[in-house]
Amino acid sequence: MFIDSHCHLNFPGLVEDLDNILANMRANEVTHALCVSVDLDTFPQVLALAESKGNLYASVGVHPDYELETEATQAQLVSLAQHPKVIAIGETGLDYFRLTGDLEWQRERFRTHIRAAKECGKPLIVHTRSAAADTLRIMDEEDAGQVGGVMHCFTENLQVALAAIELGFYISFSGILTFKNATLIKEVAQNIPLHKILIETDSPYLAPTPYRGKTNQPAYVKHVAEEIAKLRNITLSEVGEVTSFNFRRLFLNAK
Ligand SMILES: [Zn+2]
Ligand SMILES: [Zn+2]
Repeated sequence: MFIDSHCHLNFPGLVEDLDNILANMRANEVTHALCVSVDLDTFPQVLALAESKGNLYASVGVHPDYELETEATQAQLVSLAQHPKVIAIGETGLDYFRLTGDLEWQRERFRTHIRAAKECGKPLIVHTRSAAADTLRIMDEEDAGQVGGVMHCFTENLQVALAAIELGFYISFSGILTFKNATLIKEVAQNIPLHKILIETDSPYLAPTPYRGKTNQPAYVKHVAEEIAKLRNITLSEVGEVTSFNFRRLFLNAK
């Protein structure tokens, strides 16, 4: 009934505890989870998770926070994305919060990911932090809307959300939405179309209230759904149904 559209189950703290994590998912009606890659070195671990469990999927990409000597090429990304359990390209995007200085390499890397996504016809998982204007500009310039994707762990304002939707993207909310002071993000969750919303945990980070500060896990995505239900005055099952449908439509080409 719920799908975690973004988690890192290969990270320490989660990978050792996989059986419990999968059991907790079942107990909380979290049917599927998308395990998101952050670099090519650890991609095999992410893919192994997706290959080992029918309800886990993988993505391939290099996170904007990692400065590397060798960049992943478009051809490399496209080739790794051929695996049937790889359903997205990412996470990719821009992060001007963690890193400063000349970040032209980040923008180039983002463009390479968008081109790879368009070449293989798989949607993008976009990470953006303190870089909304450049993120939207590059998505527009590279015609990312051709494949679409998701703005993951959304923390920008309503205007940015609407601009991303206009470009053909979904908006995914994480546990941050449940934090008391997240007024701006709550406003976004109240005002964008329900058929453009996804939910995620970004596990092991960003555990929602009441687990704030602890290790996050996909089962907790239910708390994000609960917050959306409360904000929009609809039922929890409606949020589960619509966001799961949205996930399938975006990543699995379901009509
Ligand atoms: Zn991210
Ligand atoms: Zn992530």
